[in-house]
Amino acid sequence: MSQHMDEIRSAIVSDNLSAVADLPVPDTYEGMVVRKEDVGMFDGLQTRDKDPRKSLRLQEVDTPELGPGEAIVAVMASAINYNTVWTSIFEPLSTFGFLERYGRSSPLARKHDRPYHVVGSDLAGVVLRVGPGVTKWAPGDEVVAHCLSVELEDAQGHDDTMMDPQQRIWGFETNFGGLAELALVKANQLMPRPLHLTWEEAACPGLVNCTAYRQLVSHHGAGMKQGDVVLIWGATGGLGSYATQYALNGGATPICVVSSPDKAQLCHDMGAEFVIDRKAEGYRFWKDGEQQPGEWKRLGTKIRELTGGDDVDIVFEHPGRETFGASVYVTKRGGTIATCASTSGFMHEYDNRYLWMTLKRIVGSHFANYKESWEANRLIAKGAIAPTLSRVYPLAETGQATYDVSRNLHQGKVGVLCLAPEEGLGVRDAPLRARHLDAINRFRGR
Ligand code: NAP
Repeated sequence: MSQHMDEIRSAIVSDNLSAVADLPVPDTYEGMVVRKEDVGMFDGLQTRDKDPRKSLRLQEVDTPELGPGEAIVAVMASAINYNTVWTSIFEPLSTFGFLERYGRSSPLARKHDRPYHVVGSDLAGVVLRVGPGVTKWAPGDEVVAHCLSVELEDAQGHDDTMMDPQQRIWGFETNFGGLAELALVKANQLMPRPLHLTWEEAACPGLVNCTAYRQLVSHHGAGMKQGDVVLIWGATGGLGSYATQYALNGGATPICVVSSPDKAQLCHDMGAEFVIDRKAEGYRFWKDGEQQPGEWKRLGTKIRELTGGDDVDIVFEHPGRETFGASVYVTKRGGTIATCASTSGFMHEYDNRYLWMTLKRIVGSHFANYKESWEANRLIAKGAIAPTLSRVYPLAETGQATYDVSRNLHQGKVGVLCLAPEEGLGVRDAPLRARHLDAINRFRGR
């Protein structure tokens, strides 16, 4: 770590936040990158054999020039998202294509096209500098960043910024992401840091919490309401651990699907009554390359057994190919399948008779706009939604952290310490923390 970086870190750790405005921004910083020269390194391997530990490297990179509307943030902590799994194994595409296209789009964006990609779509930290035109944020502000990067030069994005044709996910489709000592964001990605949380707790909900909020709660997604029955795949995973909390908070009934007794217990601990252990129940929705409608029906029967006869109003979908046929089948007449991903494969197959004859709808959802992200962050800041941090790694071990997520060895979220020298720092609202401590610690060590 450079001397200037160490001074920034010391100022933040000693709560001397106003000092950062006068400290120099280092010319270089350490960031977790994939390199363009490595793009072909896994050619010929099956997805399961591609190892993020080989492609993710800690590298000294140049600090990008600060442009209008942007901010440079000292990153205290970040978190692993599945998009870093995809970036690190260069699937389904290398992310350098995104950076090249973005770099061509404007002189301001040219800096994103580099032979390395600093990854990461979450951060908690302190603003060091803001660019021209930024009035709402200043050096010394404690922030988290959501990952929606938009230009808003086109008309289409002005009802819902997710509709901007220039919409990108920061740290995935742009450079200078959060798994690093510094990050470059647009100022309209910034939100106040929840002050009852440590740096690593504050950094972990971001991407998945906002995504779950839009997908399940927002009128742009499923528009969940009281009394809805919500089937949540991967209910203790990154997305699912927040979807489960939204369902419970919103008066819905979650049916949590997980793959081990420990995960099932976590769902019960969160307050969910109905849990399905998909491994213990032995569901096989595909066999020898064929869908197994009998298995969809078995799942539907199980759901009715649990609910006393109710079918599912909303499916919170993301596993994709593996589960989609079952998801469409178990949704009730007029219900909604809201999907944001296809972890097990993009080419879905389902029986369309079960969709049109019973007037169901499939809703595509992707991240969240600033307002939705702000709402989702506000709920974290009030203690209404708890972070689901299970384990924390140092920045240098981001490869291992990403490997854990890629192999489904984790629960909830895996955090990463960037400038924070140790876990547990940064709590400023101790009474609020004390009120929610059980929920905050629920996933730790699981
Ligand atoms: P995660 O932390 O790995 O959790 C996903 C969970 O899904 C796993 O823990 C697993 O739980 C379950 N699962 C995985 N494969 C499955 C399968 N074949 N059948 C049934 N369940 C399966 O990942 P995440 O952060 O929740 O992200 C999940 C997906 O959403 C990823 O593909 C990610 O890229 C995508 N995503 C998209 C957006 C967006 O804005 N579009 C945002 C966030 C994430 P059990 O083993 O316990 O069942």
